[in-house]
Amino acid sequence: MNSSSEIYNILRKAARIAKVPPSFIEKISKPEKILSFEFPVTLDNDRTKKFQSFVVLHNNFRGPYKGGIRFYQGVSLEEIKVLAAIMTFKTALLDLPFGGAKAGVKVDPKTLSEGELERLTRGFIRAIYPEIGPKVYVPASDLNTNSKIMDWVADEYHKLSGKAEPAVVTGKSLEKGGIEGRNEATGVGGFYVLEEAVRKGNFEVSTVAIQGFGNVGGAVAQVLSENGKRVLALSDSKGGIYISKGSLDIRKVKECKEEGGRIAGCYCVNSVCDLKNKGIFLGKDVTNKEILELPVDVLIPASLENQITLKNAKKIKAKIILEMANGAIFFSCEPTLLKKGVLVIPDILANSGGVTVSYFEWYQNINKEKWTKEAVFEKLKEKISATFNQVWEMAMRHNISLRESSYVLALKKLKKSSTI
Ligand code: NAD
Repeated sequence: MNSSSEIYNILRKAARIAKVPPSFIEKISKPEKILSFEFPVTLDNDRTKKFQSFVVLHNNFRGPYKGGIRFYQGVSLEEIKVLAAIMTFKTALLDLPFGGAKAGVKVDPKTLSEGELERLTRGFIRAIYPEIGPKVYVPASDLNTNSKIMDWVADEYHKLSGKAEPAVVTGKSLEKGGIEGRNEATGVGGFYVLEEAVRKGNFEVSTVAIQGFGNVGGAVAQVLSENGKRVLALSDSKGGIYISKGSLDIRKVKECKEEGGRIAGCYCVNSVCDLKNKGIFLGKDVTNKEILELPVDVLIPASLENQITLKNAKKIKAKIILEMANGAIFFSCEPTLLKKGVLVIPDILANSGGVTVSYFEWYQNINKEKWTKEAVFEKLKEKISATFNQVWEMAMRHNISLRESSYVLALKKLKKSSTI
């Protein structure tokens, strides 16, 4: 993954344009607090297992720390540090009254029963209880965590504090104080960003490949296909599928994946699945590496970090990369992509719909309001479009990339709200 030092390289360049002094960059280059600890969980066989976890509270100049909790076997402290810093710049870029944080537990949740997963979640929250709160650190769902897990987070906090405060976490189920549209928010936000980019850059865009078919990939696939785009390729951790004609039927692919547990083989077009095996239709199985290099207009990495590197950047054929997964593109290969004329829409802008709607959820909880899904998406579109336009104009004015421009704006906003 891009290291913290690579992020600060971008920041140092951005600081010159933003007219922010080096001392400010030095100050924000260190997380404000790092926790690295193991905590015990009782397994179904009554044995106790310890799990390594990390919490990085990066910066709170603009408000409570904000950032998801991920459950992932490969999680590392360096990764959590980078992701926490990205959150600080993302919330600043979107003008949200939050700072940046991230948390991770080193676990493969697929190896746990539901009871074990609940005990792991509650144990983790007990361990970090002093660090969280509606005005302190407000976590959210992330990789391999969902609304059920966020409901356990809220409930455990309630038990410990003695107060029901749903604003302590976002990404909850609707019954527990969640917000309409949160599940699709990141994907829908990505779609709004892409719409703006296509309009501003006068692109002709029809075909799409999406790596990752979870919360983010699934939602962006759905909204793109509802809006007439042809989703030709999709993948999950077990591999992917590609068709060269027509368009995948996203609802049907979802059903097929739910039934079979994988996307492989889910060649669904016009409500009919399994076309490949029926010999009617010629699709092609692709690996998670191959999906990135397909001849499509838009490539959407929506799974893990580190997907586009110096090794494969030259082979990318898409005109636009919408970086939905945090850190999917190594900064070092971005010049290669830009030289090829690829428009790179960086993670802090592309996937900012998630944290924006998280903010709406937190705001609703604090103010005891309940918005309709239409109202949520209307406000989201307004925020995303305004931010995209600021980023685009800054990039044009200074002849810099959208990533650099996003960091210039984020830095300016962060500096404005700080007292140093
Ligand atoms: P998720 O767990 O719901 O889905 C992840 C998807 O990636 C799944 O389809 C999984 O099968 C696939 N995957 C896992 N390992 C893979 C591998 N080795 N190769 C290819 N695919 C693999 O997670 P998500 O919430 O959709 O998050 C995806 C990315 O988007 C992460 O980088 C996350 O930080 C980022 N993100 C998520 C949100 C959100 O609201 N969920 C918001 C902002 C950013």
